[in-house]
Amino acid sequence: MKAAYFLGKERIETRDAPIPEIGPEDVLVHVAACGVCGTDVHIYHGDKGSAAVAPPVILGHELAGVVERTGSAVTSLRPGDRVTVDPNIYCGKCRYCRMGKKHLCEDLFAVGVNRDGGFAEYCAVPERQCFPLDQDIPLRYGAMTEPLACCLHGIDRAHIAPGGTVLVVGGGAIGLLLLQLARLSGAARVVVSEPVAMRRDAALRLGADGVIDPVREDVPARLTELLGEPGADTVIECAGVPAATEQAFRAAKRGSTLLLFSVPRPGSTYALPLEDVYQKELTIAGSFINPDTHGRAAALINSGVIDLAPVITHAYPVEKLDEAIRMQMSAQSLKVIVEPWHAD
Ligand SMILES: [Zn+2]
Ligand SMILES: [Zn+2]
Repeated sequence: MKAAYFLGKERIETRDAPIPEIGPEDVLVHVAACGVCGTDVHIYHGDKGSAAVAPPVILGHELAGVVERTGSAVTSLRPGDRVTVDPNIYCGKCRYCRMGKKHLCEDLFAVGVNRDGGFAEYCAVPERQCFPLDQDIPLRYGAMTEPLACCLHGIDRAHIAPGGTVLVVGGGAIGLLLLQLARLSGAARVVVSEPVAMRRDAALRLGADGVIDPVREDVPARLTELLGEPGADTVIECAGVPAATEQAFRAAKRGSTLLLFSVPRPGSTYALPLEDVYQKELTIAGSFINPDTHGRAAALINSGVIDLAPVITHAYPVEKLDEAIRMQMSAQSLKVIVEPWHAD
């Protein structure tokens, strides 16, 4: 099979590799779509992902495809089934796994991070990591399940009350998913702040009540105009640059919750406005991966309530993973997908 191996900082090579062997509890997935994640971009530049990376490894943790073969102990899936894969495999034994916080596992394995993933024609995964997709769901959409599941965990942590107001700082693919989830959570008004015009247009098409260009406009002043109040009840930062964190804190009003959702560069810091945290009684929440939300994300995708068509802007064959990663980093793209095999 064709597989794109990550060999170390900024080195990717497409190789002809053997089709992976499966154990009794595994399934072999014929990968039709695998999203390029911000985490892949970090790993490509030599940083760690949700777990440490030991090259050579096949990256790609946002995969969907068709079951090709099943191990002898597999009971819930059959060849031909369409599936999306939850990449995160927990040890089940550490203190976090045993206190209901499995995603904070001390011994986390992740498909496409520290075991071979979806930037290849085939990927072997345990049956329990697979969630069924309806037959009529494009597998490109299926590849959006993992990012949507991460966004769902973030939205759960943000506790959006029906009737509340939300500011999403950053209108990339993640921001556009969070915008839609904020809407589904009952927010009365959702505003997106984003410097790139194409992304602001996408936000408006996907239901934002207003957009702000943070480079040309004063964010707190525009926000007051758009929401009729000085700040939003919930502010979600998902841009991953220091200016966005600053903006998020400036857009918080009394009693706001700030969800710091983006994956920061290792070592990034921010000088916290402690007086605001105290006087405005701010709640600051982090969000890490997708504990128990993959099934809900698959259900949302199967139901069609999340609009994914405008979010996926580019697709590449697996041999062009370098190019796909560069496009994912560019302001021209929202979500970039790699398609190792065409199912449809
Ligand atoms: Zn991801
Ligand atoms: Zn654990």
